[in-house]
Amino acid sequence: MICVHCGLCCYDFPVVIIQNKFIDFEGEDANDLPQEAFAIKSGNTPCPYLEWEGDNSKCAVHDKPWYPTTPCYDFGQIEDHPDTICRLGAHVKKKIAEGDTRYNYRFKCESFVEPKTPEGLIDGEIFGSSQG
Ligand code: SF4
Ligand code: SF4
Repeated sequence: MICVHCGLCCYDFPVVIIQNKFIDFEGEDANDLPQEAFAIKSGNTPCPYLEWEGDNSKCAVHDKPWYPTTPCYDFGQIEDHPDTICRLGAHVKKKIAEGDTRYNYRFKCESFVEPKTPEGLIDGEIFGSSQG
């Protein structure tokens, strides 16, 4: 699948990600990490590894040796053919081109305010809560 870097999945989806303190792990299989290395990034929340190059999203951990063993990588394989453009991304880019600002994930990231728990505390070490 060809990602067109709209940022939707890295913002809108709850995703299992690697905790920041394990990010320099040099192994090639994320499954070799202990369970506490993983966290769930909440939905409607930008991933802490989501960066931008202009209006194109960029993953800060995409080139890590273990990245191909993550759920994020698996999501990039869901279309039937490797040359198929991500349908979600194509839709988002079309909407942005039409001037629909609700689909501008770069803007959403820039204006994002961390959600609070009912007690007023940040929930989780980075975003979302730890697994297990
Ligand atoms: S780790 Fe990378 S690909 Fe996965 S959600 Fe975060 S920015 Fe997106
Ligand atoms: S929704 Fe598709 S095009 Fe947009 S960032 Fe995710 S994989 Fe890439």
